[in-house]
Parts: sequence; C-alpha cells; structure tokens
Amino acid sequence: MGFLVRNQVAIVTGGSSGIGLETVKLLLAQGAKVAWCGRNPERLQQSLEQMQKLYPEAECFTAVCDVLKREEVQQFVTQVNEHFGQIDMLINNAGQGLVSNFDSTADEQWITEVELKYFSVLNPIKAALPFLKKSANGSITNINSLLALKPEPHMIATSAARAGLLNLTKSLAKEFASQTIRVNSVLIGMVESGQWRRRYEQRSDRSKTWEQWIQGIANDRGIPMGRLGLPHEAAQALVFLASPLASYTTGAVVDVSGGFSQEI
Ligand code: NDP
Repeated sequence: MGFLVRNQVAIVTGGSSGIGLETVKLLLAQGAKVAWCGRNPERLQQSLEQMQKLYPEAECFTAVCDVLKREEVQQFVTQVNEHFGQIDMLINNAGQGLVSNFDSTADEQWITEVELKYFSVLNPIKAALPFLKKSANGSITNINSLLALKPEPHMIATSAARAGLLNLTKSLAKEFASQTIRVNSVLIGMVESGQWRRRYEQRSDRSKTWEQWIQGIANDRGIPMGRLGLPHEAAQALVFLASPLASYTTGAVVDVSGGFSQEI
C-alpha cells in the first residue's frame, strides 16, 4: 500500500532544496500533483527540471514566493488552485535556523526569527484554508525542530520560536478538527540538507571532509543512531502525516531525530 495520495494536490513551501525537495519527490512518486515554491528562481527552476526528468508524466507547478510576504503567498495559493482545481495537503517546510546565543542575538534577530517561524506557517494557512475545507483529506503539516522540546543555548531564538510554533500547531489542530482539517508537526533533529551544507562551507576547521564533519557532529552530540538523518527520512514522516494514512491523527508530533529526543 502506498500513501493513498494519487491525484491529490499538495503544496510544499520551500520545496526547492533539502527536506522540501525530497517531500516533493516522494509525493510525485506516489502520484500526487505537487506545487512548490522558494525565493531563489534559479534553485526553483533547477528543482522543477530535476523532478520533470525523474517523473516526466508528473503534474508540477512552481512559483517564486517568499512565505513571509502575505500577498505573494495569497497569489501563489490562488494560482495553485486555478491550476489544479483543488488543494488537499499543505506542507509548511520553508525556513532555516539561526545559530546564536543570548549575547550574540540582537533584538532585530529575535523579531526576524519569531516572524519566520510563525508567519511562514500562518500566511500559507490563511491562504489555503478555504480550499482545504473543501477537501476530504484536508491536512496541514508543519515542519518543526526538536529544539521546540529540547532548547539549545547556541540556538536560543530558534528554540524559543520553535516552541511557540509547536504550541500554535496544537491550537490549530483543535480549532480545525471540526472542519476535518488535520494539523500535525514533524520534529526534526539533525538532517543533512542545504542548511548543514552552508554551515559546512562556513566551518572554521577546514581539515575535514563533509562526511567526516557530519559524522563528527553525530558523535559529539551523541545521536543514538550514530548519524544525521537524510532528507528523504524527514520527507517520509511529512508525507505520512499529510496523507489519508494518518486520517485519525491530528495535533500529533512525529520525531525524526535518530533517538536524540529523550522526551517520554
Ligand atoms: P534547506 O536550506 O535545504 O531548504 C530550505 C528550503 O526553504 C529551500 O527550498 C529554501 O529556498 C526555502 N525557503 C527558505 N526560506 C523561505 C521563504 N522565506 N520563503 C520561501 N521559501 C523559503 O534546509 P532544510 O531542508 O534543512 O530545511 C527545511 C526545514 O526544516 C526548515 O524549516 C528548517 O528550519 C527545518 N529544520 C531542519 C533541520 C535540519 O537539520 N536540516 C533541523 C530542524 C528544522 P530559497 O532559499 O530559495 O527560498
């Protein structure tokens, strides 16, 4: 049995790289029609060409869109509905983390981080809600971080904002349940992706290869499974929660952290 998403329409924000791109790929492989966005036009076009090469028959729609710009998001979602005629699954994935501690975080960075974590989800939800209400499998799946439960001082603003997003997701799950729209979270530990590649490029110790560097992170942090996750492993959790396979699951949290979470 697959994920039962054939011919359903999914939106994946930040679908041009990392976890988002693997989510797009898995949905297309399962026969869904997929729309995705990102801010960088070249990266977005590359991701579209990559998917069209992999799945020549697939139905794809992409548009440059910054999820923090409400009008752009409204326009993107309206275009998706015009293109596909329905929207069933919204996967809020766009974003990134901020490495900074209390001393190094300026007030403006606090505001930026809170805005990113909240409005990257609120803007797409507001725009997609009228369409999700009409779907028999209306679902919203928010990517989140294990930092929401397990704050790290070196990512203080991201941790605090992620905790707020987890709380917000729970409220939305309750509010939308009567409209049969499910709202769930995936908590990511550490998954190899564009943002880890960017941190690798900026590393101070230049002696290690990428493989040695990420293995070192897994060892230093004591990840029980002994490695970072791969983007497709996060995508599998996102697609499961978004799909009808999770039809009686709302307000839930799926942990994708290789056992790093110690919460009971
Ligand atoms: P990547 O950098 O590989 O991918 C991020 C994607 O989001 C890109 O497609 C990027 O495209 C897009 N994006 C970023 N900001 C915006 C925006 N404002 N509007 C639209 N698109 C945007 O990173 P990951 O795959 O790692 O990240 C995916 C999500 O997972 C993020 O929310 C991240 O915070 C979260 N996460 C990841 C963890 C990890 O270890 N990888 C850990 C915890 C959480 P573009 O830049 O062109 O806009």
